Amino acid sequence: MRITTVLARILALKQTRILDVHLEPEGLVLDAAPTTRVPICSGCLKRVHAVHDTYEGRRWRHLDVAGMRLWLRYKIRRVRCPRCGVTVELVPWAEAQSWFTRDFEGHVAYLAQRADKTTLSDMMRIGWATVGSIIERVVARLRPGDVLDGLRFIGVDELSFRRHHEYVTVVVDHERGAVVWAREGKDAATLGAFFEELGKERCAKLEAVTLDLSAAYIKAVTEASPEARLIFDRFHVQRLAHDALDQVRRQQWRAADADEKKAIKGTRFALQKNPWNLTDVEQGKLTDVQRTNRPLYRAYLLKETLARILDGGQVNVARDKLHDWIGWAARSRLAPFRRVARTIKKYIEGIVAYVATGLNSGRSEGLNGKIRTITRRSFGFHSASSLIALIHLCCGGLTISPVHR
Ligand SMILES: [Zn+2]
Repeated sequence: MRITTVLARILALKQTRILDVHLEPEGLVLDAAPTTRVPICSGCLKRVHAVHDTYEGRRWRHLDVAGMRLWLRYKIRRVRCPRCGVTVELVPWAEAQSWFTRDFEGHVAYLAQRADKTTLSDMMRIGWATVGSIIERVVARLRPGDVLDGLRFIGVDELSFRRHHEYVTVVVDHERGAVVWAREGKDAATLGAFFEELGKERCAKLEAVTLDLSAAYIKAVTEASPEARLIFDRFHVQRLAHDALDQVRRQQWRAADADEKKAIKGTRFALQKNPWNLTDVEQGKLTDVQRTNRPLYRAYLLKETLARILDGGQVNVARDKLHDWIGWAARSRLAPFRRVARTIKKYIEGIVAYVATGLNSGRSEGLNGKIRTITRRSFGFHSASSLIALIHLCCGGLTISPVHR
């Protein structure tokens, strides 16, 4: 059997002929060509006879053979398409914009779902930024078109990436436990684009939306789906209290004399932590605060009490306790907590609704953690679109199989 025939069998690329093999310093280079003689326009996928020009020896990386890099080489043509103008021809083994074969890209995507950055880069011998653009193409190829069908109970969240200067808005289906939509940005228009894609009919079928207390998201949801119940999850509500506590601590620090400063110094983590996680030293710090700085200690108790109310239990009990908390915070003479009290008062039904869903122990929290882990992994990607593709790849319920012959 001829070596080109053997290689064609091994590679099993559809509509592809292997013409010759060269062993070159960087690996195995195979001269390949499409089985169809008339080129196909990559713009409209129609046959076009008029050839504009030909590129010398363009290469596509394919899966390694026995640990040796392998390339397909082909004199790709540009065609004069009556519909698209001058465009590059479509080759059967790769996407129009890619320098990798589909099999290679599929293998990268399989690993990106399961392996860490270094493993993937070392194994495939490509940079992490390249991984980003590869999975963008794979996700565009494999994502089913109807993921927005049948949505009833969704969650909206924002992710910050690249040292918190840029944001991505993510929509999850709580029932399937999967990400269904993501886009760069975090304002009302960003989320509005989701509802536009969803369309009026499907918007009307939404029963509930979990979200944070940001005015932008609330506006987008109430405009698009006025019937849907708004549910504010506890982590976002608690974050308000944590931020208020930190503001009080900084205010107290600025107003303090040298002695008082000594008591406040190094309390930041002790104040934010759950009481049962405190070390002895931190417990001592809190005792000092309790003795020397009443406003800061009051802020600490407000933060802790709110967390315990949100721990769950009966909806009516939670509502009563929240009303008590609002009164206490309003009288606290701590401006940051009075602001939080006003926000909680305004959205109290949505906050109480969260206690009723029992979501805190559910898989949505797991999904949330997974999305955040992926965001940390995306460091080194060139664009938000690569991060979004990685989120769809790992949290969108996509099944990818390794390439086996
Ligand atoms: Zn065309």
